[in-house]
Amino acid sequence: MRVSEIHVYSHALPVKDGPYVMASTVVHELQTTLVKIIDETGTAGWGETCPVGPVYAPAHAAGALAAIKEIAPGLIGADITGLRAFQRLMDKRLNGHAYAKAAFDIAAHDLLGKRTGLCVADLLGGAMTGKVPSYFASGVGSPEDIARIAKDKADQGFKRMQIKVGGRAVDLDIETIRKVWETVGTRMRLVADGNRGWTSQEALRVSRSCLDIPIVLEQPCNTIEEIARIRHQLGHGVYLDESATDISAVVRAIGDGICDGFGMKLTRIGGLQPMSVFRDICEAAALPHTCDDSWGGDIIAAACVQIAATVHPKFLEGVWVAQPFIEGNYDSRNPVSIVDGHLKVPDGPGLGVVPDEDLFGAPVASF
Ligand SMILES: [Mg+2]
Repeated sequence: MRVSEIHVYSHALPVKDGPYVMASTVVHELQTTLVKIIDETGTAGWGETCPVGPVYAPAHAAGALAAIKEIAPGLIGADITGLRAFQRLMDKRLNGHAYAKAAFDIAAHDLLGKRTGLCVADLLGGAMTGKVPSYFASGVGSPEDIARIAKDKADQGFKRMQIKVGGRAVDLDIETIRKVWETVGTRMRLVADGNRGWTSQEALRVSRSCLDIPIVLEQPCNTIEEIARIRHQLGHGVYLDESATDISAVVRAIGDGICDGFGMKLTRIGGLQPMSVFRDICEAAALPHTCDDSWGGDIIAAACVQIAATVHPKFLEGVWVAQPFIEGNYDSRNPVSIVDGHLKVPDGPGLGVVPDEDLFGAPVASF
């Protein structure tokens, strides 16, 4: 099973009911990059990567496209049967840029699944469930607005909600967390995601002001060092997201006892193959985690659901997908969509999603 052609597409995803507001950035529209790899039989596999703007992570749409163009020529003729070897081949073409490599990794899994008749979850060790819990992430907003959204989402069946905080007066964050807790209580597990936006002192202040509220603090501060400084003074569990940049960072954070779990992004860690390694490390350490991506359409969403289905349910915190913020789907017959707070594992081989490629227009690059 060898790669004979690669086509790259760029596609705009406007934020529905936007903008989406986080501690460090406001996003109105995202540019997603898709890759289609074709093997010698004409079978196609699809991958996608979509950084949520240029500020959230050291990743941006133009960077993804440039890295993909750098790697692609070296993948023509590559065997996709060995997916770890495929990752190593990409590493020989370009150092770092895991978020761009993820698009090829996802496409290779989709193609291998289609050729073998297996769904991606089976390639990754086997699904433990046919549907996985999703969770909702609010943008940064007023206490009243976020509490209203929380009630709506609890009524819709979500069991977990992430409240975006940071980038403003910390008193307003505390008021928002308290208002949401008073509104939904234990109907949903609550996470306050600082997206690196608080100082150590602000994170401490939030934790001490909310000791009666069972929230998890996700990526409260910018660096692991800032979190480590206050870790044992906090009255709440801490999850790493942006600081969990790769497998090495995850192993180090677990070894140093820095966190109680992770928000993990499929493209940040480099795709499905490294994500399955991360899954197994977390299970060995008995730490919960999410299976998310920062943004993207049905291809990314299907990949997140496929890996999430293979995570032991007691360690799966949920799957965040951008679908509630995107108009329409790439695959209208078999769309990835949230029903009663859950996502069904798509049917069929590979990712189980076949995009309508007319949506993407002509390729921006072909190899
Ligand atoms: Mg996060």
